[in-house]
Amino acid sequence: MRKQIAAANWKMNLTYQQAIALLQTIIAADITLKENHSVVFAVPFPYLEKAIGTVQHRKNFLISAQNCSDRKSGAFTGEVSTEMLKSIEVNFCLVGHSERREYFGENNLMLADKLNLCLVNGITPIFCCGEALGTREQNQQNSYVERQLRESLFHLTREEILKVVIAYEPIWAIGTGKTASTAQAQEMHAFIRSALKNQYDAAIADQISILYGGSVKAANAKEIFGSKDVDGGLVGGASLNATEFIEIIKALK
Ligand code: PEP
Repeated sequence: MRKQIAAANWKMNLTYQQAIALLQTIIAADITLKENHSVVFAVPFPYLEKAIGTVQHRKNFLISAQNCSDRKSGAFTGEVSTEMLKSIEVNFCLVGHSERREYFGENNLMLADKLNLCLVNGITPIFCCGEALGTREQNQQNSYVERQLRESLFHLTREEILKVVIAYEPIWAIGTGKTASTAQAQEMHAFIRSALKNQYDAAIADQISILYGGSVKAANAKEIFGSKDVDGGLVGGASLNATEFIEIIKALK
């Protein structure tokens, strides 16, 4: 069965003390994960190493960076390379979150470079894609997302694509309290899987985890994750609350 993942995206929130206390509360909770379940915390860079140490005794609890540089190394002040992440044993990295695309000018081609660097360094990229409201209102969401996949992902080999996790996050649902309906989420996830099948093959498409992101909370997680092609979620706001996020983890199928 495909990996089912509950991923927290803390963004630029929480002090170090608050962050570690939140992590400790969640990992101390009575949560029984199935073999194919993973819980991933995308934490700010300065907390990565401590977070890794905090979860290491809990199987299938893993730590992610929220971003990485598209350059290998060198004179790029303020950037963090995938090689640096690898050297402290970071397992995952978000790539192409819509906030990075919107506020920091990240484009599909740059994201292809980030994906390549993650894979070279043994880091699982969580590749984020999704359309803005205007695109959906014009019913162009499929071609928009297909282009994001084609320009950032589809140069990868069969072996490489199997190491990628995809997160579909409609921008109009991120941090807005609006969620895509279960039908809208399932429809787009099935579309992404069919694009993977066309580019690679059915066996590959069937193995890739596709997460949904956009105002997931305890109250709607079970219904959203229950859809056939939805393999868990990437969660912003609700992941900052231990009780909420624990319930979201328990909603994995
Ligand atoms: C996100 O940041 O990826 C996200 C989905 O945020 P939220 O859950 O707050 O909508």
